[in-house]
Amino acid sequence: MDGAVLVEENTITAVGPSAETEALAPHGTPRFSFPDATLLPGLIDCHVHLLLDAGADPVATLGTTDEAGLLLGMAGRAAKVLSSGVTTVRDLGDRNGLAVRLREAISEGVLPGPRILAACTPLTAPGGHCWFLGGEVAGEGAMRDMVTRAVKDGADVIKVMATGGGLTKGGPPIWKSQFTPAELRLVVEEARRAGLPVAAHAHGTDGIAAAVAAGVDTIEHCTWMAEEGFDVREELIADIVAKGIRVCPAASPDWRGFAQRFGIERAEEMFDRLRTMSRQGVQLIAGTDAGVPHAVFDDFVSSLEFFQHIGFSPAEVIDVATAQAAHAVGIGADTGQLDVGYRADLLIVDGNPLEDLGALRNVRLVVADGRPYIPERAVLRTAETSVTDRR
Ligand SMILES: [Zn+2]
Repeated sequence: MDGAVLVEENTITAVGPSAETEALAPHGTPRFSFPDATLLPGLIDCHVHLLLDAGADPVATLGTTDEAGLLLGMAGRAAKVLSSGVTTVRDLGDRNGLAVRLREAISEGVLPGPRILAACTPLTAPGGHCWFLGGEVAGEGAMRDMVTRAVKDGADVIKVMATGGGLTKGGPPIWKSQFTPAELRLVVEEARRAGLPVAAHAHGTDGIAAAVAAGVDTIEHCTWMAEEGFDVREELIADIVAKGIRVCPAASPDWRGFAQRFGIERAEEMFDRLRTMSRQGVQLIAGTDAGVPHAVFDDFVSSLEFFQHIGFSPAEVIDVATAQAAHAVGIGADTGQLDVGYRADLLIVDGNPLEDLGALRNVRLVVADGRPYIPERAVLRTAETSVTDRR
């Protein structure tokens, strides 16, 4: 299909057949042409941690790296994210507002990277999940203060660790709740006062129930863990649907490796719980949890293939990773679609991802906030093509 998009500054100003669209371009507008490629909105990864390096022990590395080193690492990872076609990330937990500083540098055009929606420091219980990010709170006053601090630091979203998590050695068990339902409600109230959404990390079913009752906007992981085994509650799934709460399973790009290590059968049972939620109407969104071990920053497509694995068509997956994601994280009126007035967040790939989702790996050009970015992998790809052409 023949088509073109006209971008002025950072906004899409025309979309349509090439000839008509080009005729609207002001004189001197640079022109990129990719005859066999597909143009789509830039992808949105709803769950990353730019602060963590995705190595074998990111928490240990965090402990031995100074702030300048951390920021440099984050800048490099942001470029990697962009190179994989992702033009927006939700950073769900860092330290000392570093993701906000990076966000500003990217938005000013100082560094290449995706738009960052930053949670700043997540609220957690004393000694709780990710306590090392600095968000330990006990009691209502301290919880309010921590939300206020995140708002002051420039947070776009408030993150609360409703249950334990796998990353925190010596922390509470992964299924265990860290806050009462009333405390989570308070977090939501404080966030709303500042006009911000709330993302709740929750593995345990009690924590999921509390987060749903509190009215959070997204639930991260949502693995339905109980002290022993799993506890999937149908009525709770119905509540998630009724309240329009989105669920981000945060399937690692290495979900295949995870299934191998965890045991294929057990992993499939886990994946089945997502299939059940999806079938019952829960809107799933895609995230990588990039930064934790095995979750790299330049392979969002593998996390998207997970959705295909649980039954989504390529078109549905792309919708989940673009328009749906944009709505889920509160920027749906601004990005996630190829339409006039939307922000110029674009991805151009060789091939047709509607036929083969893997084509999303064949990046030729990324446009983020109107700025064109040609990743190294695209340069290599172009070189490869021209070598083949010459033969
Ligand atoms: Zn996470």
